[in-house]
Parts: sequence; structure tokens; C-alpha cells
Amino acid sequence: MDTGLTSAATLPPLISGTLYLVATPIGNLEDITLRALRVLRECDVVVAEDTRHTGQLLTHFGLRKPLISHFRFNEARRAVEILDRLRRGEKVALVTDAGTPGISDPGERVVADAIAAGLRVEAIPGACALIAGLTASGLPSAEFHFAGFLPHKSGQRLKRLEHLVKLPGTLVLYESPFRVERLMEELTRTVPSRRVVLARELTKKFEEWIRGTPTELSAELARRPRKGEFVVLIGPDSSITSDPTSPALDVNESSESSEII
Ligand code: SAM
Repeated sequence: MDTGLTSAATLPPLISGTLYLVATPIGNLEDITLRALRVLRECDVVVAEDTRHTGQLLTHFGLRKPLISHFRFNEARRAVEILDRLRRGEKVALVTDAGTPGISDPGERVVADAIAAGLRVEAIPGACALIAGLTASGLPSAEFHFAGFLPHKSGQRLKRLEHLVKLPGTLVLYESPFRVERLMEELTRTVPSRRVVLARELTKKFEEWIRGTPTELSAELARRPRKGEFVVLIGPDSSITSDPTSPALDVNESSESSEII
């Protein structure tokens, strides 16, 4: 029976001149895929956001590979070098420190350049904090908007937030532990009655889900140390209607407005 799935026994070799975007764990090392390990084993070079960090990951899995760095400030220069390597037929694996390359991480630029140059790009999917956070948040996932990190400067930040909260669907943001309290205060001012979920330390030992209104979450965060990684999910405003042709969202609306666990 053809299931459409490819098993390890029938896997073709990696393709020369391909840029492989390899997702790596966001905390739990078990979250690396078999395919990611094979690509990292069989590629010619690994392009990494932080070569030391990725070196440790490779060592953990018993792999040794030439590593070159690729981060925000050398992205343009490195893109040229990566494209040269691809043209020479090298198999290049691109990883970031955690999760899926290009999602609030380097990758987008070199992917666009490679495609424009007619080169082959393949995604090796895996961990991504936004997807892990969204799917287990309990908030609607049929329509959502991911906006990564908000700007740091107050004026720009508030303007961006005011725009984003008007969009239909669940709003998903990344935020640092040092600004998440500030974000709850900003949400208290802009959308005080929305349901918010903080997905903290996903896939790690101290993973937790904190649910409530922005005011409740401010109070909760004030009791905790400022650490951990957060995905912030803001439930939709029921008065903002989505595209009328999309199916009605089936959300378990609890009669209680919030829950803190
Ligand atoms: N490329 C990554 C991905 O696929 O999710 C995101 C990289 S971005 C530089 C890092 C941010 O992602 C963190 O500040 C946090 O907001 C979020 N994040 C990453 N790992 C996380 C985790 N284990 N739990 C919660 N949030 C996480």
C-alpha cells in the first residue's frame, strides 16, 4: 500500500547543490527528527547562527562537520558564500540556535537569494515555538497571526501592538523574560478582556502554561523570577469577524473568563 510516506530504507541520498533548512530542538533534545540527523550527517557543511552552540548539538548526536557562522550581522556577506558553495554542488545544512530557521531567526535572506539564483531549497521541519505554543494553548488556531518580537521602543511598540490586536484570529508573539511583564501592562491598556496564554519554557523541564487576562498575568508574573522563554498568545476579539467564507471556529468558550495554573 502506498501511504505516501518515505521510510528510511527507501530514502534517496541528499541532493547536490541543495540548501537544507534544518529545524533543531527548542529545549528538549529528543525533538530532533531522524531526517534532521541524516541531513546533518550527510551534508558537506553546516551553516550555524552560533557555531559553538551547534558544535555542542552535533557532538551530542555523535556528529562532526565543518561549521561556518551565519548571523544577523553577517547575513548578506555569508549569503554570497553559501550560494557559491551551492553552485559548486555542495549540500549545505542551515540551522539556528533553536527551532526553525527563518522564524524570528536568520535564514530568510539566504533562502530568497538561493531561490532567485535558481538554486534548490528544502525544509527539514521540526520544532518551532510558535506552533508548539499555538497548538496547545487552547486558543483558536484556524486563523492566527504571528508577528515575532515587537519593537523595543515605546512609541513604535504601542503603534504596532494597536495594529496587531485589530487583526482577526489568535495573535502570537515572541517575548523576552525581561519585557513580558511590560507586554502584559500594554495589553491591559489595549485589550484588557482578551484571553492570554503564556507558554513558558516549552519542551523543557519547567514547561508551564499560564492563562488569564492581561491584568491577572501581570500579577502572576510579578511573583516569579524574570527568566525563561515565552510565547505569548492573545485570543481573538469576538467582535472582529474573519473572512465570512471561512468555516466557523469551534472554540470551547469557558464561562469563566480566566484560569491560572
Ligand atoms: N526559530 C525559533 C522557533 O522556531 O521558534 C525562534 C527563535 S527566536 C530568536 C527565540 C524566541 O522564541 C524566544 O525569545 C521565545 O520567545 C521563543 N522560544 C524559543 N524557544 C522557546 C521555548 N522553549 N519556550 C517558549 N518560547 C520559546
